[in-house]
Amino acid sequence: MLIRTALMAALIGATMTGLAADSARFYTPERVAIARENVERYDWAQAELEQILKGQPRSYLIGHEYTSAEDYAAQPDDFLWALQPPTTIPRIFPHEAIAECPVHGLEVRKLNAWHPWRLDPINHPYQVQCMMGNEWYPSNDFASGDMTSGDYPDDGNGWVAPDGRHFFFIREYAHACYTAITIPTLNALSRAWLLTGDRTYAHKCGVLLARLASEYPNHDDRQDRLWAAPYGGRHPHYEWKGGGMVTDLIWETFCTEDAVLAYDAIREYLDTDPELIAYLKAKGMPVESADDLRAYIERYLLRAAAVALENGAIHGN
Ligand SMILES: [Zn+2]
Repeated sequence: MLIRTALMAALIGATMTGLAADSARFYTPERVAIARENVERYDWAQAELEQILKGQPRSYLIGHEYTSAEDYAAQPDDFLWALQPPTTIPRIFPHEAIAECPVHGLEVRKLNAWHPWRLDPINHPYQVQCMMGNEWYPSNDFASGDMTSGDYPDDGNGWVAPDGRHFFFIREYAHACYTAITIPTLNALSRAWLLTGDRTYAHKCGVLLARLASEYPNHDDRQDRLWAAPYGGRHPHYEWKGGGMVTDLIWETFCTEDAVLAYDAIREYLDTDPELIAYLKAKGMPVESADDLRAYIERYLLRAAAVALENGAIHGN
């Protein structure tokens, strides 16, 4: 319900030129003032801010709301820009070797039956770590364009085991990074900005959100990037499952909602950061102004998600 409300409010704002189109819909000044007051007065609110700044433990693809705003805000803009993997990398892969380690085999399922991997994009971008032996895959530096180094290289099409099966480390990473890192980082940065007023959080949030908008699939000119697109619109193993955007139709409900709320949090801030606009323009985005950036995010994130809500590509279970 909330996602529809936020999306529709933003869409109405986007089409009502001049009618408070640049003001937040969810994070109103009154709500932000109350939140800041709560942080000063209450331990529970202070603890929430602490989690936003320092992060929460994570053991799976979902289930945590924040990474560390401090850690991610300390990274260069280019890091935030590269953080969300390109959606030209498929997030579904054939189940030739799923939840299986090249060294530890199926034993790793004792630790997690679905995703026995850890992610640490700051220190190990585009790699996953085995929960059992702590080793990293793939062995090549994918982010730097190295597609062949080491014993377990993966150029996005999977490392080929001696028995001919593919281990899809890069696709696993692309799948996991969106729900486990990108969205919780948008949450942390946007809320750290609202609660502390430190502009660094808003700036870094702006880079990551713009990147997500530039990678977010849609049913218009990015249909080939939709979650199930590489398989004709249906998951090859769970055939009841169609739709989806960056991730599947069910998880996308809360992921997209968080991304939309992060936009709401920094919507007005964008007017005050010409360096952000210049940076994004240099990255190839068609933006000359904060208005252009808002229009881009509203078209390629909010509108694309609203269409997906209407046609069922985003749909909860
Ligand atoms: Zn292992």
